[in-house]
Amino acid sequence: MKASWLVPVTFALVPVVIPATAFAVNIYPIDRATMLTGGKFDFKVEFDKQVDPAQVSIKINGKSYQQVWSQKSDFIKDEDGLNASSVVIKNVDIATPGDYKVEVSAGDENGTVSWSVYQTPKKRQAKNVILFIGDGLSVAHRTAARVMSKGITEGKANGRLAIDDLTNMAFIGTSSTDSIAADSANTMSAYMTGHKSGVNALGVYVSRAKDSLNHPKQETLGELIKRTTNMSVGVVSDAELEDATPAAVLSHTRRRADKAEIVSMFYDIKPDVLLGGGSAYFLPETTLGSKRKDNQNYIERFQKAGYLLVTNANELKKQGSSADKLLGLFHTGNMDDVLDRRFLKNDVTKKFPDQPDLTEMTQTALDVLSKNQDGFFLMVESALIDKASHPLDWERAVYNTIMLDQSVAIAKKFAETHPDTLIIVTGDHTHGISIIGTIDDDKPGNDMREKVGVYETAGYPNYQDKNGDGYPDRVDVSKRLAVFFNNFPDHYEIFRPKLDARFVPAIQNEKGEYIANAIYKDIPGAVLRSGNLPRKSDTGVHSVDDMIVQASGPGAERFHGYMDNTELFRVIVDALSLGHGKQE
Ligand SMILES: [Zn+2]
Repeated sequence: MKASWLVPVTFALVPVVIPATAFAVNIYPIDRATMLTGGKFDFKVEFDKQVDPAQVSIKINGKSYQQVWSQKSDFIKDEDGLNASSVVIKNVDIATPGDYKVEVSAGDENGTVSWSVYQTPKKRQAKNVILFIGDGLSVAHRTAARVMSKGITEGKANGRLAIDDLTNMAFIGTSSTDSIAADSANTMSAYMTGHKSGVNALGVYVSRAKDSLNHPKQETLGELIKRTTNMSVGVVSDAELEDATPAAVLSHTRRRADKAEIVSMFYDIKPDVLLGGGSAYFLPETTLGSKRKDNQNYIERFQKAGYLLVTNANELKKQGSSADKLLGLFHTGNMDDVLDRRFLKNDVTKKFPDQPDLTEMTQTALDVLSKNQDGFFLMVESALIDKASHPLDWERAVYNTIMLDQSVAIAKKFAETHPDTLIIVTGDHTHGISIIGTIDDDKPGNDMREKVGVYETAGYPNYQDKNGDGYPDRVDVSKRLAVFFNNFPDHYEIFRPKLDARFVPAIQNEKGEYIANAIYKDIPGAVLRSGNLPRKSDTGVHSVDDMIVQASGPGAERFHGYMDNTELFRVIVDALSLGHGKQE
């Protein structure tokens, strides 16, 4: 059959009869969803076109959905003007564990998904759960934190991080429903709901609804605990509290930027401790610094609901632990990097000179939450690891990693006297960051690239921690770690820490493209690096590499091998035995 490609062209023109195929429908929760017995969720079916409601059939394990759920279902004939019908039933659950097959049809449209519903053990294993999220935490951040904090000689670390000795460990896959690359919204959402979601989405599936607040929801861990137990809930972050990671503990929106709405969701659920930045979305628009578009004063509302308000480190220290309900807002936006707050004499912290450290927020949160005899769930985020990694500022990211580790040390100390505490430390996604050796200013010449030491020419850096605070006394030592990111916009590589403020690698030109920021151009040895990201990228991006999770305490043994990020939710609800409805 040589030269079979010479078949006459006319053959290709013979019309092919395509059999009438059925139209697919979208069903939420999606295929392969795993759910907790009694966990609340919104059920939604999206047909491809307008259908006749009389023809709609929705069966769950062969039973009509109306038999399974007594809640009112909404048939939407023409959803959002898309000329297509949907069925929505809000706030349902499944009480019996097992495998469920959902079959949907209407005319020539049909679809099937399978769900797995699990029950938690009857006996509660853990009284308290503390979840640490190092946003963007990658292996290189941890290695650099260990080297810079503890030192390393003749190949052996001179000390260990608090995270290093947590007993159990696993890899975590972070991809989202719509993309292999994830952001903090859907990754933290997977931890907090047990369901995968799409980029920028919090506590909802990404459906076709146009209103960002009208997508199918899944109950978050914060809501579940507040609905079914008397436990306390705490949310601590050095980002804005409305930022994706803290928001995911209890909010629902397709658009993580719905920050004013997220504050009202916090208010509805009322976690017992809220500490972080982001006061701009708590303040009415008439107040200087507010970012709200209305006159709601959420600071006042929280105070009226019995919260003690603290606004700086001194107040937190003096009064924080005495509170039963605590709201601490220490910055209008994200709080500042620990390198600027505690080690560099620059202008970064001028606006808010007395911000608490993540360690102090962690300790105070534990003081308040541990008053509850029914236990607590506390989420602590070291958010600025990510915020500094985006602009390729690895030194700030590593100092923020050391601060995370010192906060973990506080939790470990707490667990010594409260052994019924599960401590989990992970990130939500990684960054493309790696350590390759050292940079030695004392090598001859002015060409910084020639001062990069690799293999045997790297030797060891000369950081010192004489005062024993766990941080190198100086970040700008003469022989430093050589750390590089693998993805970046155009920028000037200056081979040195940025002492004035966080690095700003690229700025926008008149065409709206990001080009190297010329303020670094004349720094001796600076070299232009051409970006490898699309020109609309202003900073580095998240990587798809697996996350590492480490844990200690009751339930920690569940972390091993490779896990999906939705499984972290299951470990927590199992440890707290949350699948049995309202606890007495
Ligand atoms: Zn990020």
